[in-house]
Amino acid sequence: MAEIASLCVYCGSRDKVDQAYRDAAIDLGRRLGEAGIRLVFGGGHVGLMGLCADAALAAGGEAVGVIPEHLMQREVGHADLTELHVTPDMHSRKFKMFELSDAFAILPGGLGTLDETFEIVTWRQLRLHDMPIILIDIDGFWTPLTDLLDRTIQAGFAGPEARDLFQTVTSVDQVLPAIAAAPQPRIRPRPGLL
Ligand code: AMP
Repeated sequence: MAEIASLCVYCGSRDKVDQAYRDAAIDLGRRLGEAGIRLVFGGGHVGLMGLCADAALAAGGEAVGVIPEHLMQREVGHADLTELHVTPDMHSRKFKMFELSDAFAILPGGLGTLDETFEIVTWRQLRLHDMPIILIDIDGFWTPLTDLLDRTIQAGFAGPEARDLFQTVTSVDQVLPAIAAAPQPRIRPRPGLL
């Protein structure tokens, strides 16, 4: 049974998206704040990530942002966070987020979110960590991704065990129970391997 102190949330950075996705980000942030689980995120005050961080803080929780220097303006570095780590580049951002987190959750998002998702899943495939990864499939947003994984397995490019690298849930209220039900992680990030 996994017990976590922090959850890394990957999600979209654009504002003009369906309200259902925005509500999911707010709901997740609020639940983390109420549960006393620290939010780790991309550090911007834009899109779903800004909503999630604001909701976590409003619920009395902690939000820790990790943003590369060159995105401070574009993604509007959030000014009111518990901590804001400014990194020199994208790779150090991703590693810092990885290092600060005990589990990962993925809300709907764009290409950046896809990049982060594939990286954390493939790092798990390579046994560089064994932390829980929860894909939050709001309104079927991620169904094409899980269909692609099925096709990848059918075609022989991955084994059926690839389905166990992450868990899919269909609503935000399932995220923390899914993490609690996952085995306690034993493999922590080691910088030399990435
Ligand atoms: P998006 O899903 O495209 O809105 O991006 C979500 C977040 O992912 C934003 O904070 C982006 O800066 C970030 N992002 C985009 N590309 C990458 C990348 N290659 N590595 C790490 N983060 C990225």
